[in-house]
Amino acid sequence: PLIDGQVVDDHQITVCVRKRPLSRKEINRKEIDVISVPRKDVLMVHEPRTKVDLTKFLENHKFRFDYAFNDTCDNAMVYKYTAKPLVKTIFEGGMATCFAYGQTGSGKTHTMGGEFNGKVQDCKNGIYAMAAKDVFVTLNGPRYRSLNLVVSASFFEIYSGKVFDLLADKQKLRVLEDGKQQVQVVGLTEKVVDSVEEVLKLIQHGNAARTSGQTSANSNSSRSHAVFQIVLRPMGSSKIHGKFSFIDLAGNERGVDTSSADRQTRMEGAEINKSLLALKECIRALGKQSAHLPFRVSKLTQVLRDSFIGEKSKTCMIAMISPGLSSCEHTLNTLRYADRVK
Ligand code: ADP
Ligand code: MG
Repeated sequence: PLIDGQVVDDHQITVCVRKRPLSRKEINRKEIDVISVPRKDVLMVHEPRTKVDLTKFLENHKFRFDYAFNDTCDNAMVYKYTAKPLVKTIFEGGMATCFAYGQTGSGKTHTMGGEFNGKVQDCKNGIYAMAAKDVFVTLNGPRYRSLNLVVSASFFEIYSGKVFDLLADKQKLRVLEDGKQQVQVVGLTEKVVDSVEEVLKLIQHGNAARTSGQTSANSNSSRSHAVFQIVLRPMGSSKIHGKFSFIDLAGNERGVDTSSADRQTRMEGAEINKSLLALKECIRALGKQSAHLPFRVSKLTQVLRDSFIGEKSKTCMIAMISPGLSSCEHTLNTLRYADRVK
């Protein structure tokens, strides 16, 4: 909700959906746009007026979310209603998370700012960078300056249940849980940062590491979760004051790779499926005292454990949608998942 032009964060979980525009390629092959956003909180998947067999999709599917972003919305607009209201949370001693969910090619990385196309680096206009900017603005503002907080950042990838440090040559890292159920990624690079420019450098470094050694046909990034974190600590202390985690999730269509002929692909698919299901349960239970949450079921939920517990934890999920008719089935899966998160 908007009060006096300010977005008010009155709930612990915000679920939004973002429709990307049809790409030039899709337009050239006459792909049909089946998504419309009739209201700022309603998204419809509907039958286009064509002779294509749509037996499965004949009924109109209407979904309601906190916000539905049309293909005319830019990253700044999406940021304003999703991650931005959560910046305050980490200064007030809470944990914040922002998830980008959806099929491969739906716009997760574009939204987060993880794009890296050789020379062109677009991460400035992504959510990682916009949030980092607001973290520094808030840090130096009158309200929290006296807390003397130190900002640091880390960037890692979870691939097939294993953690790799994107700021240290994709070094494989272990995850340990102590007796008090505190989870630690052992040896994770955490760089102290003093400005947005420094954060941008880290993001670019991590993005490059993420996409190195992969071809578009066999993209590892669609099968891994990327986790970028901004951590606040009181000066001279190792205790975490607040933490903001941004997660560019593996393509949800990869979760159904469980019937592939290739064993490796099958195992990765099963792992992704497991982690996305566990994630849904953990988000749904956010801040509630539930003893049996499936944190340990996947690496993703295990390393994010401290972000799900506690009354001050807040989460937003941005479900990304490809507009084309040929993506319809994946789109419906994405919308159903997002619908059940809340
Ligand atoms: P994902 O990370 O979900 O696989 P990407 O973010 O890589 O998808 O997006 C796929 C392609 O679509 C990229 O070329 C990206 O630049 C483009 N794209 C995604 N979202 C948008 C958008 N909202 N506006 C313009 N182009 C977009
Ligand atoms: Mg991506």
